Amino acid sequence: MLFAGVRLAYNVKFDEKVITTVSNKKVYYAAVNIVADIVEGNDVVSCLPEAKINPVVTINDAVDDCNRVADAIIDNADEIISASRLVLNGTALGCADSSALQAALDARKAEYNIYGADCESEFVDNVTVEEGYFIKSEVNDISELSDEISSLNVRTTAKTTTEQSIPYKTVTNKTSEKPVGYVNTDQSGEYGVSLVTFGTVYLNGVETEKVNIGTQVTKEPVNEIITVGTNKLSGTKVSGSGFRFPLPAGVWEISCPYGKSGHKGVDLRAPNGTAIMAAASGTVVLAGVYRDYGNCVIIDHGNGIQTLYAHASKLCAKVGDTVTAGEIIALVGSTGNSTGNHLHFEVYVGSDRVNPQPYIGL
Ligand SMILES: [Zn+2]
Repeated sequence: MLFAGVRLAYNVKFDEKVITTVSNKKVYYAAVNIVADIVEGNDVVSCLPEAKINPVVTINDAVDDCNRVADAIIDNADEIISASRLVLNGTALGCADSSALQAALDARKAEYNIYGADCESEFVDNVTVEEGYFIKSEVNDISELSDEISSLNVRTTAKTTTEQSIPYKTVTNKTSEKPVGYVNTDQSGEYGVSLVTFGTVYLNGVETEKVNIGTQVTKEPVNEIITVGTNKLSGTKVSGSGFRFPLPAGVWEISCPYGKSGHKGVDLRAPNGTAIMAAASGTVVLAGVYRDYGNCVIIDHGNGIQTLYAHASKLCAKVGDTVTAGEIIALVGSTGNSTGNHLHFEVYVGSDRVNPQPYIGL
């Protein structure tokens, strides 16, 4: 006779330790079959300790189902251990302690990493690790797998990143409101920056190829925007002298007048590239680099009168050319002994350099 809530059951002992309580012996044997399925290895059952199964009186809910009994068997059978199997292309190479195996595989993968480089390594073949329960005697010491592990092929990619500049584009706006030769930078171009990542690929430490891994733009370039003049206007006629003004209207100012500190001409500051025009018709008698004048043009107008145009960035006439008043002969610059873009203009009467300013209405 048993009290309500109390029943007859069976204790299962490994050695003298109770590992589980079952309602009947069949539960234990069912659990053994589960263990035989779970645990890798031949004849798992014979590796289990001898179980002593004895009747016991217990409360109803103190018995385990077969899955819990299976867990208890695995936990308490010294010959069953958790480990991992190394599989190469579907073929098992052996079993070892899980963490030791993982550490050995990681070390193999890192073997060809290059110090200081950002390296990614992988096995070339299909290498997998299967965790599970194994018969202790069938699990290798990790050292027994060293040949297998060191023969795994490793692909290492060492990444290097370099900065490259991205050229900017130049957008040109043309305007007839400015003379030919007028060039103004409205917006300066700025180079962009990109980060280019290259990878050097090694197979077991031997370089096999270089690959472009990717480009990341970190700064977009800024367009350069320039305005150029298209107006081929002649210099303004100067009343009385028969000369035309040698620069287009509205772009110049006097930066140094005739006579200041012995100055033998007049300096007219103007943007680089501004058209310089013949003040009167005549023949070009000098076109080239001349003394401190840099790129220089001299025009002979007859009657002993010559005009000189100095510091040009570019010459548009050559010796012997016949030019008409207002014709472009050079572009403003800062060549020779000059500290900024300007036209140095002189008038010769005979061999005397006279004040040129009245000739051009200044
Ligand atoms: Zn000057």
